[in-house]
Amino acid sequence: MKNGVVLLIGRPNVGKSTLLNNLIGQKVAITSPKPQTTRFPIRAFYQEERGQVIFVDTPGIFNKAKDTLSKKINLRAAKAYEEDIDLVLYIVDPTRKRDFEEAKILGIVRKIEKPKILVINKTDQELKYLPLYKFLEEEFKEIIQVSALNKKNLKVLLEKIFQYLPEKKEPLIDIKNFPFPAMNIDSKTFIAEIIREKVFLQTRNEVPYRTMVLVDEIIERNNKLTYIKARILTTDDRYKKMLIGENGRKIKVIGSMTRKELELATNKKIYLELTVETDPHWPEVYY
Ligand code: GDP
Ligand code: MG
Repeated sequence: MKNGVVLLIGRPNVGKSTLLNNLIGQKVAITSPKPQTTRFPIRAFYQEERGQVIFVDTPGIFNKAKDTLSKKINLRAAKAYEEDIDLVLYIVDPTRKRDFEEAKILGIVRKIEKPKILVINKTDQELKYLPLYKFLEEEFKEIIQVSALNKKNLKVLLEKIFQYLPEKKEPLIDIKNFPFPAMNIDSKTFIAEIIREKVFLQTRNEVPYRTMVLVDEIIERNNKLTYIKARILTTDDRYKKMLIGENGRKIKVIGSMTRKELELATNKKIYLELTVETDPHWPEVYY
């Protein structure tokens, strides 16, 4: 049996979440961190005849770090990737130009001394900037072109993933303690991470580095509806204003993006109550 942890890494919008969802379809289970498995939150667990895989989908936290707090956060994220990983999927989107953020992520990828597969996504589109990514072919033994959206070449990718995962006698997760196929979102960390990712995608400059997310409640109303209460904390009233946006538009978008992603991953209806608060002390309390 083959099993291991696969890290999905790439700029925001390259298609990581789409790839994960379409790669393993409904066989997704999201769970809280388990000490016997990995150190970081488990994103998705997948099992089939060939073995078990834990996929970790990284949120968009690679923007240019300006102050010490954000540097700390970036460093911590990068460190987490060095441990417990068996395989890296580095995902690129050649419909867009390479940029600073892309270079930074490549820097992190280079530092991880594990097998790596370069995944060129969005091949259903014109890959206008493919020449800018050409040089990567020398760095990666395995390169595969896919369309995460149209599920093109995903079977081949899964084959390659299992090819690189280590042979192990023991399963990663004891299925007896893990009803399968299981879908639950009992992980506050996981949900907070998704909300934070959306904050990164929707706000500019230092705002995302000045926020943290707390998930207060997750209540399974019935097996179809889950209620989630979460708060975005930020250090300053002016950031709070930016997070809420004109007529509450920004926070609405952040909330609805989060809800959609959670609904896709869990196959349940999500009711999300999301608010923004100013708390100048959170950096000292939580970091
Ligand atoms: P992430 O930020 O890396 O997780 O990216 P997402 O999975 O959220 O995808 C970002 C956007 O790219 C979404 O609008 C997707 O529908 C789109 N997308 C993802 N994969 C593909 C693909 O293979 N082809 C096309 N045309 N669009 C894609
Ligand atoms: Mg994503």
